[in-house]
Amino acid sequence: MLIVMTAQATPADIERVCKKIESLGFRPHPIPGAQKTAIGITGNPGPIDPAEFEDFPGVAEAIRVSKPYKLVSREVKSEDSIVYVKGVPIGGPGLVFCGGPCSVESREQILTSARAVKAAGAQLLRGGAYKPRTSPYAFQGLGEEGLKLLAEARAETGLGIVTEAIDVETFDLVENYADCVQIGARNMQNYSLLRRAGRSRLPILLKRGMSATLEEYLMAAEYILSEGNYNVILCERGVRTFNDHSRNTLDLSVVPAVRKLSHLPIVVDPSHGTGKRDRVHPMGLAAIACGAAGLLVEVHPTPDHALSDGQQSLYPEQFAHLVEECRAIYEVLARRRAPEHALA
Ligand code: PEP
Ligand code: MN
Repeated sequence: MLIVMTAQATPADIERVCKKIESLGFRPHPIPGAQKTAIGITGNPGPIDPAEFEDFPGVAEAIRVSKPYKLVSREVKSEDSIVYVKGVPIGGPGLVFCGGPCSVESREQILTSARAVKAAGAQLLRGGAYKPRTSPYAFQGLGEEGLKLLAEARAETGLGIVTEAIDVETFDLVENYADCVQIGARNMQNYSLLRRAGRSRLPILLKRGMSATLEEYLMAAEYILSEGNYNVILCERGVRTFNDHSRNTLDLSVVPAVRKLSHLPIVVDPSHGTGKRDRVHPMGLAAIACGAAGLLVEVHPTPDHALSDGQQSLYPEQFAHLVEECRAIYEVLARRRAPEHALA
C-alpha cells in the first residue's frame, strides 16, 4: 500500500498519516519526491482498506503497489534517487568512480593505490579488510588493521571509503571506519546482514548475487529499505553462466532493467564481472553507455603480487585511461540528450 499525498500536503498532514499507519501496527516510510511525498507502508500481512486513509487531509490517493518489492520500486518514487557517499552524489548527473585493490594488504599498498586512483579522477576508494574467500585457506583480509589503513588513506586523500562487511558480528566495526558499507555477492541473501545494513546510518553498496534474478536482487535491497535505510546503491558484478571464457558473465542488460523498475542508482563492477584485466576496460565503457551511474574497479599498484584478484586488477595507468574514456562517452551521450540538441 502506498499513500500518495497532494502537492499541497503539509508536514502535519504527513505526520498524521504516519501516526495512523503506526496505530495499525505497521511501519510508515515517507518518501519525498520532487512534487509530492508518498508514504510506503510495510509490515502489513495482508491488504489494507484504502478507505482508512482517503479522508485524511492532504491525501491524494491510497493505492496498492503491484510489485512484490515496494520501497525500491518506481511506483513508490518515480524520480531517480541520489545516494551520497561522503558528499559524492551517485545516481544524479555525472559519473562516480570507485577504484582500489580487492584487499587492503599493507600501508604502502593502500596509500599508493589511494593516491593513484585519486590522480586518475576517482572519488571513492575501495578495499576489503574482511574478505569473503571461496577457500578458507586463502587470505582473509587484515581485519581492523585494514580498516585503520583505509581511514589513513581517507585522511590523506579525502577519498570516501567503500569496504565490505561480511557478517553481523563485524558490521559495527566496519561501520566505524567506512563511508559506505559493501555487501558482497555471496551475502546478497544473508537476511540478518541485510537487516543490520538497514539499521545502519551509512549508505550500502549491495552487489548482485551470482545467481540472483532481478526480482531476488530488488527484494534483497527491499530488506535494507524496509528497516529504514533508503541509501542503497546497486552493483552488477556478473552472474554464473555456462560460459568458460570469463570468470562471470557481466549482465549489462540488468542496468536498463533495474532503472525501469527501481529508483535506486546502479553501478557496474567490470572487474569481478569479467575476471580478466583485458576485458575490464571495454566492459566498463559499455556499462557507462548503457546507463550505469559509475564503476567499481579493482586497481592495484603491482597486480602480479596482489593477495587476491590480481588477474582482474588494473594497473593505475589503465584505470586512468578507463576513467577518461568513460567520461568522454558520458559527455557525448549527455550532450546528445540535452534539450537544445533535441530541438536542433
Ligand atoms: C569484491 O568486491 O572484492 C568482492 C568480493 O566482490 P563480489 O562480492 O562481487 O564477489
Ligand atoms: Mn575482489
